[in-house]
Amino acid sequence: MSDLSLADVYRARRRIEGRVLRTPLVASPALSAVANAPVYLKLETVQPTGSFKLRGATNALVRLAEAGCTRVVTASTGNHGRAVAHAAHALGIEAAVCMSSLVPSNKVEAVRALGAHAHIIGKSQDDAQREAQRLVREEGYAYVPPFDHLDVIAGQATIGIEIAEDLPDVEQIVVPLSGGGLFAGIAFAAKQIAPAVRLTGVTMERGAAMHASLAAGRPVLVDEVETLADSLGGGIGLDNQHTFSLTRQLIDEVVLLDEPSIARGIVHAYEDEHLVLEGAAAVGIAALLAGRLGDSPVARGPIVLIVTGANIDMNQHRRIVGEALQGATA
Ligand SMILES: *Cc1c(COP(=O)(O)O)cnc(C)c1O
Repeated sequence: MSDLSLADVYRARRRIEGRVLRTPLVASPALSAVANAPVYLKLETVQPTGSFKLRGATNALVRLAEAGCTRVVTASTGNHGRAVAHAAHALGIEAAVCMSSLVPSNKVEAVRALGAHAHIIGKSQDDAQREAQRLVREEGYAYVPPFDHLDVIAGQATIGIEIAEDLPDVEQIVVPLSGGGLFAGIAFAAKQIAPAVRLTGVTMERGAAMHASLAAGRPVLVDEVETLADSLGGGIGLDNQHTFSLTRQLIDEVVLLDEPSIARGIVHAYEDEHLVLEGAAAVGIAALLAGRLGDSPVARGPIVLIVTGANIDMNQHRRIVGEALQGATA
């Protein structure tokens, strides 16, 4: 199917063990009642950098450090940059992070606080990626892409192994979808272990590059727009090597959400699950609440929602929850 093997994923798991958490899979009674099926949340929010991105970044950086690399650079909408900064610090190597001006300031500050150099450039993920490539060409950095790299995909795929171990009869896995590193990794590992499992990708209606690319049959550019799911923004790269073809082969369905639905996901997570989630992490919950995960009047097997990250600006979070409460009492 690709240059990725299940053995690579198990090797990634051994490599990141002790540096990245094996995350809990917790039942959600409230969402199970809505779905008429057992629903579980895979809580990547508890990772040291607040998102799953630490898995792929750590796998890639351990390999680079073993090869003698001392300086790494990446382009990122925030969580990957943060993960690279954290992993580089832990390994004692230097990190530079290139980000577009659309990236929220809390994420930029988090990268700086971890000791990395923050390069703010351009208005899109593609601009930031070009700056990272320049540092590679002109200043000898090693590039760590946010999704389109086999070591990154194998790192994210370790989530799929953990789900298969914790819940062998899982029927559906619901994955927030952007560049597709997370989706491709989890889908690859899960389907290698349990071929019948259904894989659903969820993303926002506006500016979803992977969805547009799947529809076009090749990687295409989309205009970037602001969304509550800002970690799902950014292109997939016109020269995409791995995640586009893997996602195309492994995806069973794509769900597209509008902004009010994503807000409802954030509010449900807070009020009913006691979780502070960023928009990108709430799209699985949002899709379920919107009745978009395939209606079924009869009981179904377990559904796992990947809850990808907690890194939301807290002022924005308070505003979203506050507006929902006002709406409820108006
Ligand atoms: C990066 C990210 C995603 C999407 O991952 P991709 O590999 O780019 O598809 C989802 N949620 C959060 C919180 C992220 O940081």
